Amino acid sequence: MPTIFHRIMRRELPAEIVFEDEHVIAFRDIAPQAPVHVLFVPKEDFATLNDVPADRPEVIGRLALAAAAYARAQGFAEDGYRIVMNCNGDGGQTVYQIHLHLLAGASLGRFGT
Ligand code: 5GP
Repeated sequence: MPTIFHRIMRRELPAEIVFEDEHVIAFRDIAPQAPVHVLFVPKEDFATLNDVPADRPEVIGRLALAAAAYARAQGFAEDGYRIVMNCNGDGGQTVYQIHLHLLAGASLGRFGT
């Protein structure tokens, strides 16, 4: 079932794409929760983190390292940033293609406070 993110990947919907390679695409969140809020999405289909097989850690590793590289390139490495992945309803997931949120550009405080 194609999600909004699949449609962005196929350029059927507009998005501000900030990074793309063979495996990952990253674009700005439409409703940013921080001055910088970018979503890192694998090109391979996985609805939730639960669907990533145990023998495929590179799927998550690529997202995390792409987010870290982007944060570093934008000058946030030293001050810091947050990466978050929501899973299913209680986790707050609303788009069922896995994605890592990168939040940066402000002091985000302790998580959950
Ligand atoms: P989730 O709640 O699934 O972890 O995160 C989904 C994110 O996708 C939300 O932060 C939401 O603002 C963002 N989003 C939803 N629809 C669109 C869209 O059409 N374009 C972009 N760029 N982001 C979207």
